[in-house]
Parts: sequence; C-alpha cells; structure tokens
Amino acid sequence: MTLIAVVPGDDAAPEAVLASLAVLEAMDLGVEFDVLPDGAEMSSSPPDQREAMVVERLDRADTVLFGASNGTTPGIAHLRWGRGTFANVRPVRWRPGYRSPMADPTKLDYVIVRENLEDAYVGIMGDADDLRATDLIGPRSRLAWSGEGRFAVKIITRQGTEKAARFSYELAIERAAAAGRRPRLTVSAKTNMLPATDRWFCDIVEEVGAEYPDVDLTRYIVDDMAHRLVLHPEEVDVLLLPNLYGDLLSDQGAATIGGMGLAPSGCYGDDFAYFESAHGTAPDIAGQDRINPTATLLSATMMLAWLGEQGQADRLDRAVGAVYEQGRSLTVDQGGTATTGEFCQAVIDRLG
Ligand code: ATP
Repeated sequence: MTLIAVVPGDDAAPEAVLASLAVLEAMDLGVEFDVLPDGAEMSSSPPDQREAMVVERLDRADTVLFGASNGTTPGIAHLRWGRGTFANVRPVRWRPGYRSPMADPTKLDYVIVRENLEDAYVGIMGDADDLRATDLIGPRSRLAWSGEGRFAVKIITRQGTEKAARFSYELAIERAAAAGRRPRLTVSAKTNMLPATDRWFCDIVEEVGAEYPDVDLTRYIVDDMAHRLVLHPEEVDVLLLPNLYGDLLSDQGAATIGGMGLAPSGCYGDDFAYFESAHGTAPDIAGQDRINPTATLLSATMMLAWLGEQGQADRLDRAVGAVYEQGRSLTVDQGGTATTGEFCQAVIDRLG
C-alpha cells in the first residue's frame, strides 16, 4: 500500500497540514499515512536525534506532504539535496472566488519551474577576506573596498540546468496537449549583468530546445519578467527560472492570485517527489485556527497526480474550487470568517 509521510511542520503550518489530512482521510484513498510529530513536539529531542528520526521516516515513505519549517522541523535539506528533487513546480492559477488584487485575474494561469538545488542556495558563503586571498578578486572585480565584507556564491551547472530544462519542456508539452494549443516555454534570468551564470543558464535551455522543436521558447531578462508577469501574465505558460528568481517570482505570482495561502508546490526528482505549500510557517497567525489550508490541499492534488491518482486529484481540486465559487466558507485572508477546520469541512462536504 502507498505510504505517505505527513510532516506537520512549525508555527501555524501544523494547523493547515492536519486539517488537510482530515480531508485526505475523508477521501478514502486506500493509502496509509505516517504522521510525524510537529515541531513543538519534536523540539524536546536533540537536533541530531530529531534529524535521524525524521529522515528515517521520510525515506520509508513513497512520497511526503511537508508542512513549512522554521528550522525546528528538520528534513527539508534531505528532501531537496539528499533526494535530488531538482524541479520545484509552483502553479499560479487564479480561480473564481480567489481574492486577487489584479483588475483581470482571469488571465492568471501559468506554472513556475524553479531549479531547486543550485544558484545562490548552494550554501557557499563567507568572509570577503577569504575571497580576497584568491585570484578571483582583483582586476576582475568592479568593486574596490576596504574593511569588512561578506560573500555568497551562486553556482549554475550544465547538468542541473539541462535536467530542469528537459523537465520544463516536457511540462510545457503536457500542458499544451491538455489545452489543445502549441507548447510554450519561457526562460528568464539576469542575462545582461551575469553572463557567466545567468546567460549561460538561458543558453543551455535554448540548446536543450533542439530536442523539442515543437516548443516555442522565449527569453526575458528577469526584471522585465517580473513586470510582465503582472501586466501580461497571459504571455506565459511554463516559466523556468534559476533557484533564487524562482523563489521570488513565485511569491509575486501568489500575491497576484490572492495570497500565499493559495500557492501550492511540488518538488520533483528523477524517481521521487515531495509536496509542500509555497508559503512559510506564518508565525504571526499561529494558534489562531485561521491559516488558509488551500495551498496545502492543492499541493496534495499535485501529490495525488504524481502517485498516478489523477481522478482523485481532480476530485479534490473540484471540491476546493466549489468552496471558492460558493464563497461562504472562506478563511480570513480571503475575506471570510471560516476557521481552517471549517474550510476543510466545506471541502469534505463537496467531495462528491
Ligand atoms: P518563509 O521565509 O519561510 O517563506 P515568511 O515568514 O517569509 O516565511 P510566510 O510564513 O509565508 O512567510 O508568511 C508571510 C505572510 O503571509 C504572513 O503574514 C502570513 O501570516 C501570511 N500567510 C502565509 N501563509 C498563509 C496561509 N496559508 N494562510 C493565511 N496567511 C498566510
């Protein structure tokens, strides 16, 4: 039987994850859930013991539904770098009932693929004096400075970029087939200022495009992209970005549809994937039973689709959509008064 590890996470995240778990249990999916302790429960054990326990249970599962972590709940580094989940997929889709600040939100239906392992997230940071001691600084640097300084490195690799590119082309083809139109991929980075990394990233994506002659590829500089995603979001279908820009622009995308509470995500590797909302732990609303579980529920639809249960994914997606269309059981961030639990009960009532 399929085993799904459920990680409640920290601060307000467990409220969203456990309420969403009640919806999944009500769906009678014929899967088994392994529910881990939340961050507060785990915090009494030493960090290395906590990490070992979590990693062991994550690795036993077929997939993972992960609540956000503030650092107390371990496991995310293992799920990303340890399990090689190189593509973070973040759909930006408005639906009727979402409280969007846009004049015409109906045009918002695109997917960000964020390269998930490289770029500025490689964890190489330090004192600028150490860098000054190498021959990387000197005639090649525009900056002359004295005194204290720090650096952080971004690394782009051919292999990592090619993998993210192939994943994105395939996704573009899949989405176009479902919509009955020609596939489109957009790639964006700071190509003008960072040719060594960012222009190379886009060049590699273009090279990989030779394997996908039916996909139209468009390139934009990332600042222009941020602007276009607000003014002309209909131009984009699948948007591939290096890690840091993907992190930023997907939060912007979430804001355009109506907020972080609506933004799901899935992180895919070659033969493993895990799923988590795009938002953080929302510490400011912890303990209030008002966190919006939509992002978690829609992440669960992505999980069900990855498990091959497309019918169940559609069933859950329809039920969430029906709650928004009716508009009577919405959470506070969407202008309603429903608690997290009441929202999830409304979803259960519409499961069909
Ligand atoms: P991180 O750095 O981990 O992304 P953060 O503190 O920057 O975390 P979030 O935790 O995503 O960001 O919270 C940003 C704001 O959005 C907070 O005011 C939070 O309450 C709100 N928020 C985030 N997720 C939700 C949600 N699911 N429902 C309602 N409000 C949310």
